Amino acid sequence: MNIILLGPPGAGKGTQAQRLQQERGMVQLSTGDMLRAAVASGSDLGKKAKGIMERGELVSDELMVGLIEDRIAQPDCAKGFILDGFPRTQAQAEALDRMLTASGAKLDRVVEMEVDEAALTERIVGRFSCAKCGAGYHDKFKQPKVEGVCDVCGNKEFTRRKDDNAETVKTRMAAYRAQTEPLLPYYGTRGVLRKVDGMAPMDTVYRQISAILAGT
Ligand code: AMP
Repeated sequence: MNIILLGPPGAGKGTQAQRLQQERGMVQLSTGDMLRAAVASGSDLGKKAKGIMERGELVSDELMVGLIEDRIAQPDCAKGFILDGFPRTQAQAEALDRMLTASGAKLDRVVEMEVDEAALTERIVGRFSCAKCGAGYHDKFKQPKVEGVCDVCGNKEFTRRKDDNAETVKTRMAAYRAQTEPLLPYYGTRGVLRKVDGMAPMDTVYRQISAILAGT
């Protein structure tokens, strides 16, 4: 099964995609994570993306489509994948359609995570993750069980995203509204779009998504 999680920054796409990966064996394809890895490695892609990401703008469709095309062609994606952060523009959505058609795969569901915009900044500026395994935490909503120690792998170092600050969030929200939100009717007319309440507790959201996937 192949799905897209769609929603503004801070909606919880990454959190839910991580859990779907752990519990259902689907592959999480987070373009944000891929780009952050490229920036950390200092690759050509990373050099091109770094400033754009720090400003909260969108990386070019050409680079993003190439990145996803290579990743989807990897054998592990045949198990089913969760797109988290892609597509973000009409051109990316159309390119994805072409890729899937070419490989005989299909898009089963697009899950919109509906959230109250006022809550997003607080969600975003408080988040941090394990530097080793990537498990996600939050200053207010999800502290590690033992302070300073990752629940999942026991590591003691954590990182915060450079773009998770109140100023950049404004640009990221504007990019979402202008370029990504229009994808909702694009998928709506094709009958694959379903909505979940992204303001509900994480477990409830996960159950809502599981129910949607069970109904395909
Ligand atoms: P995310 O982790 O999904 O919030 O993405 C972090 C940043 O990476 C975004 O603000 C963009 O600068 C860039 N990015 C991630 N995915 C895409 C995409 N599909 N298209 C364009 N830029 C992207």
